Amino acid sequence: MGFRDKFKDAEKALTFNDVILLPGWTTLEPNEATVKIQLTKRITLNSPFLSSPMDTVTESDMAIAMARNGGLGVLHRNCSVEEEVDMARRVKRAEAVIIRDVVTVTPSTTVGELLKLMEEHHIKGFPVVGRGSKLVGIATWRDVRLAEPTLKVRDVMTKKVVTGDEDITLEEAKQVLHKHKIEKLPIIDKDKHVKGLITMKDITLKGDFPDAIRDEEGRLICAAAVSPFDLERAKALNKYVDIIFTDVAHFHNKNCFEATKKLIKEVNAEVIVGNIGTYQATEDCITKLDGIAGVKCGIGSGSICSTSVVTRAGAPTLFATSNAADAIRDHKSKISVISDGGIRNPGDIAVALSVGANATMMGNVFAGCSESPGRLVAMEGRYYKEYYGMGSARARKKRFALDRYSQPSKAINEGVEGWVPYRGPVADIIHEYVDGLKAAMGYIGASDIPQMWEKARLALVTERGYQEIAPHDIMTPGPNRLL
Ligand code: 5GP
Repeated sequence: MGFRDKFKDAEKALTFNDVILLPGWTTLEPNEATVKIQLTKRITLNSPFLSSPMDTVTESDMAIAMARNGGLGVLHRNCSVEEEVDMARRVKRAEAVIIRDVVTVTPSTTVGELLKLMEEHHIKGFPVVGRGSKLVGIATWRDVRLAEPTLKVRDVMTKKVVTGDEDITLEEAKQVLHKHKIEKLPIIDKDKHVKGLITMKDITLKGDFPDAIRDEEGRLICAAAVSPFDLERAKALNKYVDIIFTDVAHFHNKNCFEATKKLIKEVNAEVIVGNIGTYQATEDCITKLDGIAGVKCGIGSGSICSTSVVTRAGAPTLFATSNAADAIRDHKSKISVISDGGIRNPGDIAVALSVGANATMMGNVFAGCSESPGRLVAMEGRYYKEYYGMGSARARKKRFALDRYSQPSKAINEGVEGWVPYRGPVADIIHEYVDGLKAAMGYIGASDIPQMWEKARLALVTERGYQEIAPHDIMTPGPNRLL
């Protein structure tokens, strides 16, 4: 191949702003469309949104909010293994039909220690187990709140415990809790060993979040990011998460592939790999990594990303998504595609889904929410939250995610730092984005996401054309956050 052929054969790496969706014949109203989509063998999302594994985006609060609103939060890895496991544990403990890993205390635990445990685990009641691990009482907030910290649990606990057996149904448990006016029901076996705990809080929460995505035990679903080389972290998280994401900037790399093969064997959580950007990379993932559940696509499109400026390498999210989706189709594979980076509004999401994505991942959008970890700051009468790239100097200071980027770039930042406008609770953003997405589906005439893959057609817009399709020739009060 001549050098000039590199120009002739150059592919068009189109991005969101380059295209529009063409309206198509429709027999459906937007509110009849569904945005439900299967993400992995075990998990179907009610809204096709994931929050990025970044330390200004997804910790437990965000993951809980995402799962309650039909999406999925991916916990970041820019922290110690213990901290990440703790975040995952919190998500799993937020709601459950039966809490399985019950924290118990003994009669000789002091009230002071108990109060500390309550704060640490964010729980308000502990079964008390005595000799032979048999249940002997229950110590709740009500029992200890006014007690001397030096007293022992045996002095304050409720000794007559109402319990349920292992076959109890949720409805029966509800009735027992109601009848005895209690909040917690320990589940015990015939030898009085504690097998679980059912709480009133979990039962009532179920009605509050009809879109929530839960695992078989009624706990919220949770995902976490790991380096493919950090097998210990993956193994530690395995017990608490449904999906493990390999989190590197350029996954199409021999060492990443080799490490991921080992990782897949060691965990029973489903594994989604990324990030990748080309047809070839997807093909290699499908053929060389047996058992993966999906690929995450997009390199260099993130709003905080400076990779493509620093290196001039990248695979814009839309381009990457369409390449991955084609490779999957050509190989008759069933794995899913997640579009990651550069998504700002429901229109971007609609386009990503139209070129074959199952779901979309957003950092910037969710960084501005109440549930993201950062502080709220006021600047010139507006509120903002901090947001920075995982390759920025700020994130790299913590040093846990340095291996997200390749060796030489350890001296080069591949991300920037700043603030994003505060947007309020995740629930509001997800509702707004689902409504916007359904409106787009109405224009396309697609009743669900698989129909978008088949029916949606794109047209190219020029830069000047893009100016026309955005609001223009009008003064507006303040920035429109969807643009
Ligand atoms: P956003 O939604 O803000 O446009 O993009 C978020 C995505 O950017 C993340 O999910 C992640 O894949 C990617 N990302 C996060 N931090 C960095 C960074 O510092 N550099 C690069 N290249 N990508 C980043």
